[in-house]
Amino acid sequence: MAAKKTRKFKTEVQQLLHLIIHSLYSNKEIFVRELISNASDAIDKARFMEQTEPALFADDTDYHIRLSADSEEKTFTISDNGIGMTFDEVNDNIGTIAQSGTAAFMEALEKSKKETNLSPELIGQFGVGFYSSFIVADKVRLDTRAAGAETGVRWESDGKGSYTVQEIEKENRGTSITLYLKEAEEGDQDFTEDYTLQNIVKKHSDFVTYPVIMNLEKSEPIPENEIVKDSEGKPIGETYRKVRKDETLNSMKAIWAKAKDDVTDEEHEEFYKHISHNWDKPMEIIHKKFEGVTEYDVLMYLPEKAPMDLFRPERKNGMQLYCKRVFIMDDCKELLPEYLGFVQGVVDAPDLNLNVSREILQEDRLVRNIRKNLVKQIFSLLEGMEKEKYEKFYGEFGQSLKAGIPTDYENKEKLASLLRYKTTKSGDKYVSLDEYIGNMKEDQKEIYYLTGESLTSLINSPLLESLKAKDYEVVLMVDPIDEWVTQSLPEYKEKKLKSAEKGDLDLDKVDDEKKNEFSALLSFLKGKLEARVKDVVVSNRLKDSVSCLSGDDYGMSAYMEKIMKASGQSTPDQKRVMEVNVNHPVMEKIKGLFETDTTNPVLTDYSDLLYDIAVISEGGKLDNPARFSALLGDLMAKAI
Ligand code: ADP
Repeated sequence: MAAKKTRKFKTEVQQLLHLIIHSLYSNKEIFVRELISNASDAIDKARFMEQTEPALFADDTDYHIRLSADSEEKTFTISDNGIGMTFDEVNDNIGTIAQSGTAAFMEALEKSKKETNLSPELIGQFGVGFYSSFIVADKVRLDTRAAGAETGVRWESDGKGSYTVQEIEKENRGTSITLYLKEAEEGDQDFTEDYTLQNIVKKHSDFVTYPVIMNLEKSEPIPENEIVKDSEGKPIGETYRKVRKDETLNSMKAIWAKAKDDVTDEEHEEFYKHISHNWDKPMEIIHKKFEGVTEYDVLMYLPEKAPMDLFRPERKNGMQLYCKRVFIMDDCKELLPEYLGFVQGVVDAPDLNLNVSREILQEDRLVRNIRKNLVKQIFSLLEGMEKEKYEKFYGEFGQSLKAGIPTDYENKEKLASLLRYKTTKSGDKYVSLDEYIGNMKEDQKEIYYLTGESLTSLINSPLLESLKAKDYEVVLMVDPIDEWVTQSLPEYKEKKLKSAEKGDLDLDKVDDEKKNEFSALLSFLKGKLEARVKDVVVSNRLKDSVSCLSGDDYGMSAYMEKIMKASGQSTPDQKRVMEVNVNHPVMEKIKGLFETDTTNPVLTDYSDLLYDIAVISEGGKLDNPARFSALLGDLMAKAI
C-alpha cells in the first residue's frame, strides 16, 4: 500500500474555501444538502454504469445514502454506495476545482477583487459542493472505493492549505465522508442531533431519488407479554422503551411526476437548487405532463440569472433525462438546442430504453419529438411573459436567444420576435421588431439597423443623418453576436433588414447635375486614397457631416471587422467606400481649390483629412493619428 502523501491545495481552492466559509456562516446547514447531492449524483453514475457493466455492481445494488452522527465525538458522517472514486479521481476532483462554473467564478472574482463583501446570493450562483463541509468542520476525512477497484483511498484535510491522500482497505464500494465538527457557536444547530438532521433533510433534500437513511432513536411500546407487572396487573416500570431503527428521512417523490398543483413553491426551489447546483430561485417554472401517443413528464426552470460560464464550450446543458424515475443522464444535449442550454430541468420518458446511449438518442424519434415540444413550451412562456419580467430575462439571456437565430432555422422567426433592441427613438426602452414595424413611416420599406460598439457612438453616427432627417427609426445593435443575427436574418415579416452603413439606402438622391459637377474631384480623391478606399462617391446618407465610410450590401460591417480582428482572426483586407457630402460647404471649397489648381499640395492634406474624419466618426482608429493632429493644428492656425 502506497504511503500517505501530503499535497497542497491549488490556490483557487484555498481562496474558494475561504470565501465559502466566510460568506456562508449564517447558512451552515446547507453542507448537508451539498453532500447528499454529491452522493445522489454518485449513485446516478453507478446506476448508469450498472446498465452496461452489471458485474461491477452485483455485490450491492441496494442504493442508498446513510447519515450518522456521534454527539460524543462530534462527528457527522455521510456514506453512499455510488460509483466511488479512484486514487486519480480523488486527486483530480477533490483539492482542485472540478466544476467549470466555479473556475469561472474564481476568474470573475479575481477581476473584481470584491472578496470582502461577497453576498451569499453571488456565491449562491455556484455549486460549492464538497467544500461546504469546511463551513462546519475543522477536519474532513473522505474514504472512497471506486466500482471495480481493489483498494480504497483516504483523503484528509483541515481545509487550511493542504490535504493528504493514501490508499486504504475499504470493505464496500462508494464514498464515506466524516466531518469533525467545529466547536458550535451561539445559535448554531447541533448537527449531531437526530431531530436537526431529520429536519434539514426534509427541508433541502426531500425529493432526492434514493433513500437517505438514518438510524434513529425511537420510543416504542414494550410488547404486552414482556411487561413486568405487579400482583394487581399494574406494570412495574416503563411501558415504552428506546430502540434504534433505520428510517428513511426523505419522501423520494419525484416532483416532476406529481400533479402540477401538488408541488409547492418551496419544493420547486429546493429541487431547482438540487439540479442546477445554484442557490437562487428559478424565475419561471414549466411543469407539464405530455399525453398522447407517448407520455412523458417535463419540469423545466428558467434561472433568474445567467451563470458566468454561460458561453463556455465546456458548460453542461441543463437537462436531465429519466426513464420511469430512474436517472439516465445529465447534460442531455439532445433535449434542448444548445442556445437554450441555460434551462434547467428534467424529462421523464417511460417509453425510452434504459440502456439508451447518447448516439442513439440523437436518432431517436421520440427524443426529437420531445425536444420540439420543450422548445415550443419555452417559447410560449417567453411570448406570454409580462413586459418588465421579459426584459429582465432578456437582459440575462438575450444573447443566448440571439445565438439561436443562426442555428435554429425552424424557429428563426419566433426567435426574431423575441429580440429587443434600443433604437434611435426608443430612449431607455427596448423595442421589439414588431413594435418597430408598427412605428414605420408610411413611405418606409425596410427595417434599418446599425451595428457597433456603443450606443452613444451609434446614435451619433453620421451614417444615420439622412435616415434621421426622414424621421426613420434605426435599430441600434451593440452585441457582437448581432452581426451573426443580421447575417442570418435578411428579413422579418416581409420587411428587409437593411444596414445603415451598407449599400444604397434608397433615400433621396443627389441630383445628377451636382454629381457631374463633382465627378472630377471625386476621381482625384479616389486616386489619392487608392490604398485605403475602394471608391469615393457622392453620399445620400450624410446631411451634416462631410464624409463617412460605407460598405457593400454583402460586405463586412466595420464592427464585424473589428470583432474579427479583436479575436485574432485574419480578415480579408476589405476596402470600404468613402462617401462625401457634396452639400457641405467644405466640399464646395475643396472643389474651388481643385478647379483653380489641381496640383495644389494642400489637396493631398484635405483628402487625408476627409478620410480620417470618416474613420473617427465611426469610432475607428486612425493609422497615423500624429499626422492627423498636425494637419488639424495647421488648419486651425490658418483659420483663427
Ligand atoms: P461538484 O459536485 O459541483 O462537481 P464538488 O466539489 O462537490 O463539485 O465535487 C467534485 C467532484 O468530486 C464531483 O464532480 C464528483 O466527481 C466527485 N465527488 C464528490 N462527491 C462524491 C461522492 N460522494 N462520490 C463520488 N464522487 C464524488
